[in-house]
Formats: sequence, C-alpha cells, structure tokens
Amino acid sequence: MFCSKCGKEISDDAVICPNCGVPTNNYNGASTKPKSSSDDSGNVNTMSIVALVMSFIIPLVGFIMGLIYRPKAVAIDDEPSRKKCTAAIWISVAYFILSIILSIVYSVAVVGMIGAF
Ligand SMILES: [Zn+2]
Repeated sequence: MFCSKCGKEISDDAVICPNCGVPTNNYNGASTKPKSSSDDSGNVNTMSIVALVMSFIIPLVGFIMGLIYRPKAVAIDDEPSRKKCTAAIWISVAYFILSIILSIVYSVAVVGMIGAF
C-alpha cells in the first residue's frame, strides 16, 4: 500500500509509515484478519444467492415446460406424455416449495453463524 500522507510505498503489514510516521490503516489493531473474515461471509452470501436463484429457476423452468407441453400432449391424445407433463408440473411445485423451506432454513443458519461471531 501507499502512505496516505507522503505517498511512499510501504509494507501492507506496516502500522505506521517508516518515512513520515503517519499511522496506516493497520493502526489501532485494525489488522487484516477481520477484513478477510468479512470477505469470507461475502463469499457465503454470494454462494447462497446463486444457490437460491438456481433453486427457484430450475423448478420454474420445469413448471413452464410442463404447462407448455401438456396441452399439446392432450391435443394429440398422447397419454404417456400427458402423464409425464402432469408429473413434471407437480414435481416442480414440490421442488419449489422445498427450495423455499431450505432457503429459509439456510438463511436462519447463516444469520446464526454471523451472530456467533
Ligand atoms: Zn508517509
């Protein structure tokens, strides 16, 4: 990093600037450790958001596909396809409800973990 006062390049671990003696961001015990732990929780949040979006999109796509193809299967009187589409719709609904429950449980767990720190 660079000194905020004189602009000289100094060690990232330096507490004060060796050139002019001005305290750096590391002064007053503000080490890099809390910063890295907040970065970790940021990664956890990003991962959980991705997992959450995926868990909503996948059943939604299955649900829409089932809705689109079921009338076609009914129209051509294709009994196996109709049953598959009906099953796909119900599996999507069940998966969707399950993903909501899991995301709530996961959110509570993450909040509990952050609260423990
Ligand atoms: Zn300096």
